[in-house]
Amino acid sequence: MKKKGIRGMIEKLNEPNNFISGIYNYCDGWCERCSYTDRCLNYSSRDEYGFNNEDDEGTLDNTLDSVFEIFSDISAFLKEEAEKSGIDLNEEVDMSDYENAKEKAYSHPLTKKTYKYFQLVNDWFKSRKEIVTQQTDEFIKFAELGFDEEKIQSNVNEFQDAIEVIQWYYTLIRVKIIRALHTKFDKSYVDEEFTFEQVNTSAKIALVGCEKSLAAWKTLYEYLKEDEDKILTILAYLDKLIKSIKEEFPDVAEYKRPYFD
Ligand code: SF4
Repeated sequence: MKKKGIRGMIEKLNEPNNFISGIYNYCDGWCERCSYTDRCLNYSSRDEYGFNNEDDEGTLDNTLDSVFEIFSDISAFLKEEAEKSGIDLNEEVDMSDYENAKEKAYSHPLTKKTYKYFQLVNDWFKSRKEIVTQQTDEFIKFAELGFDEEKIQSNVNEFQDAIEVIQWYYTLIRVKIIRALHTKFDKSYVDEEFTFEQVNTSAKIALVGCEKSLAAWKTLYEYLKEDEDKILTILAYLDKLIKSIKEEFPDVAEYKRPYFD
């Protein structure tokens, strides 16, 4: 259940705290695997909006309700603050640079490549449910036959981890590439240093996502020999995608995000 929402977060910021300023701008959003949860204001907002309640079921409806609640809360807060400061939120703003950059980013060949990767993975998961289930049955069979339990458990963990990594990044890669391109093309940014950091941070998250996914697909390749042709196709595509990202963002391989690289 929501506590104080955005106002609660502002209160936390005004008290002595251990937060790392803006750390959530550099991460891949996978909080369950992040070692900075107790130093991240964004993560602490989960408490303020009741995301961490153990009795909440993680259904899509609950998630959408929570997102809607956050947007409504922030929107109401901004209106109140704007009114207090005499800012007219209805004043027309020239968004042409933003809109042009958005169009260029969405129609860019690299964006299309990330969408193609998304489709390849989506199709694979849809059509290979059986193969994944068969592999899980295989693990159970080995356990029943008395094979080394520790070894089987480690194989299960490795297999599940590979699936989770692929599932986490296959949508995020596209989102982050669009964001990197959008920022790169948006002429309204005047601070070159800021633009450089924003572009390369987004591109780096996509690149790291591709590299981790590549390793994860290699793991699946070891387990799912009967599907090797399809997995090899995806591996080859991902490899090309990594090269394309490095070509489009020549500094990204060397660029290091604070805290995460
Ligand atoms: S920094 Fe870590 S805890 Fe914070 S939003 Fe990113 S992944 Fe989540």
